[in-house]
Order: sequence, then C-alpha cells, then structure tokens
Amino acid sequence: RDSRQLGRPLPENAGGQDAKNLRVKLVLLGDSGVGKSCIVLRFVRGQFDPTSKVTVGASFLSQTIALQDSTTVKFEIWDTAGQERYAALAPLYYRGAAVAVIVYDITSPESFSKAQYWVKELQKHGSPDIVMALVGNKADLNEKREVAVQDGTEYAEKNGMFFIETSAKTADNINELFEEIAKRLPRPPVT
Ligand code: GDP
Repeated sequence: RDSRQLGRPLPENAGGQDAKNLRVKLVLLGDSGVGKSCIVLRFVRGQFDPTSKVTVGASFLSQTIALQDSTTVKFEIWDTAGQERYAALAPLYYRGAAVAVIVYDITSPESFSKAQYWVKELQKHGSPDIVMALVGNKADLNEKREVAVQDGTEYAEKNGMFFIETSAKTADNINELFEEIAKRLPRPPVT
C-alpha cells in the first residue's frame, strides 16, 4: 500500500463497492430450456413460475444477500434472454462479469456438453479471476437423470469450478448456490 495515502480521505467507492459491500455482475450461461430464468426467479422472487419469462434485454435483476461475516453481496444477474444461440454476442455479454453460472439440465447430456463449451469459452475470453459455478439443474427429475452427479463433480473439479445440483422447482440448493458463490468472491482490500 502506498504510504502517502495514509490518513487521507478515501476516494468515493465506485458504485458502492467496498470491502463490506460487494457488487458483482453475474452472467448465466447454458442451453435454452435448462432453467436459467427459473433459477433467477426462484432466487430473486422466491417463486417457480414456468410461464413468466424474465425479460431482460438491456437490464438485469438484482438481489443482495448478507453473509455471516456481515458483508453483503449484490448480484446483478444477467440472463441471456434467449440469445444463447448467438455465440458471437457472448464476449460482450460476459465482459466485466465477476461470476459465471453455467447451467445444464441433469436429464439432458446435450446440455451438459453445451455447458462444457461455455466453460471453455470463458476460460478463453472471460476475466482471468472469474468465479465459475457449474450447476446441474432440475435435480427433482432424478428418475429421468442422464448426467451422473459424478460427471458434474469431476468436470468441475478439473476446471477449478464450484459444482452444485439445484432445483428451481423445489428451491433445492438455490440459495446455497448464491451463498457459495459469494464466499468465493475475491475481496477488495480491507481499508
Ligand atoms: P431457460 O431457457 O434456461 O431460461 O429455461 P427456463 O427457466 O425458461 O425453463 C425451461 C423449462 O424448464 C420450463 O418449462 C421450466 O418449467 C422447466 N424448469 C426449470 N427449472 C426446473 C426445475 O428445477 N425442475 C423442473 N422439473 N423443471 C424446471
């Protein structure tokens, strides 16, 4: 730390971000239909409503959570709004993202392959210190499962990601997903 700055007033915190209150851009990636919008709705509004699409466009939904160490994390959640087909748009979409949540559907091996594609994309073009979470959604459909828990776990481990299975329908592990991400965020230096 530059000793000349000691005792001087601190600069305004850019965008309300300081050591105690983080604000992070989070992008969702994954095949269409894996449940990205439902995960966001469950987390932000506490409901499961498959008919109400999150219409995002230029905006996003945000949700703040408090952690046990009395810090807060405000997630600004960007959903692809059905643009996941346009791979060329992706780098624009995840620019500046501190967190990427890559979602697949445990009943769809194709969606698991697609998730791996997004992980590689982020490794190539994402911020080097991005926190990545791999999410196997629709865990309530266990009887139709086609992607083993172990496949998700192993892939995530190899790629330095956090892995969790969720259900937007039953709310299983949805809050846990975001809490775990919050814990893994790099903290700005304490002032
Ligand atoms: P997106 O295209 O990735 O945003 O997917 P949506 O959130 O629109 O969800 C696609 C479909 O999957 C909808 O019909 C949801 O009802 C269904 N869905 C989403 N999450 C779950 C879940 O956890 N369990 C089950 N059984 N269905 C889900």
